[in-house]
Amino acid sequence: MKKAIILLSGGIDSTLCAAIAKDWGFDLYALSFDYGQRHLKELQAAAEIARLYSAVEHKIITLSALAVITNERPYVPARNTIFLAHALGYAETVGSTDLFVGINADDVHFPDCSPKFFHAFNSLAAVATKAKISLNAPLLNLTKAQIIQKGIELGVPFEKTLTCYGGDHCGACPACKIRLNAFDQLGINDPLKYNNYVSY
Ligand SMILES: [Zn+2]
Repeated sequence: MKKAIILLSGGIDSTLCAAIAKDWGFDLYALSFDYGQRHLKELQAAAEIARLYSAVEHKIITLSALAVITNERPYVPARNTIFLAHALGYAETVGSTDLFVGINADDVHFPDCSPKFFHAFNSLAAVATKAKISLNAPLLNLTKAQIIQKGIELGVPFEKTLTCYGGDHCGACPACKIRLNAFDQLGINDPLKYNNYVSY
């Protein structure tokens, strides 16, 4: 069976990546990072999603260095580069040749979520490992609404995903708003229960 390393944050994008990799016939090896993000509920959501997709393993790497380098949010400089470098080592160790990352059209303003970054890292991955590992970014050209649409087709458990910056489904932070707007565009109710969200 082919093995896929999934960078799993517990959000919609990485959960859809897990669903796509599963759909493509991969066994999943999930990788999450504890880097001082605002809420450990992210890691709990990632663990639950890894379990739902029958991941062979779910590894959590503690990266306290990231919090030492920067306190910026939501943009964490070079975060994907740092995460993916760890994923390369994990992939070669378990005999995987495929990394999956949920970068997408809505995050393209972050330099390490851009198509240019994707192609550059793919070239690096091919020469940085014995196994010629490649990076898969199946959401690269998809907007959040298109991601949700694709997720519905693949039965993604949206109610288990965590988007909120505060970890409590506030319905008001930028991440919650982007998510809710995308569901609205599709005319679909988000199955999450929001704490303070008033629909109008
Ligand atoms: Zn929120």
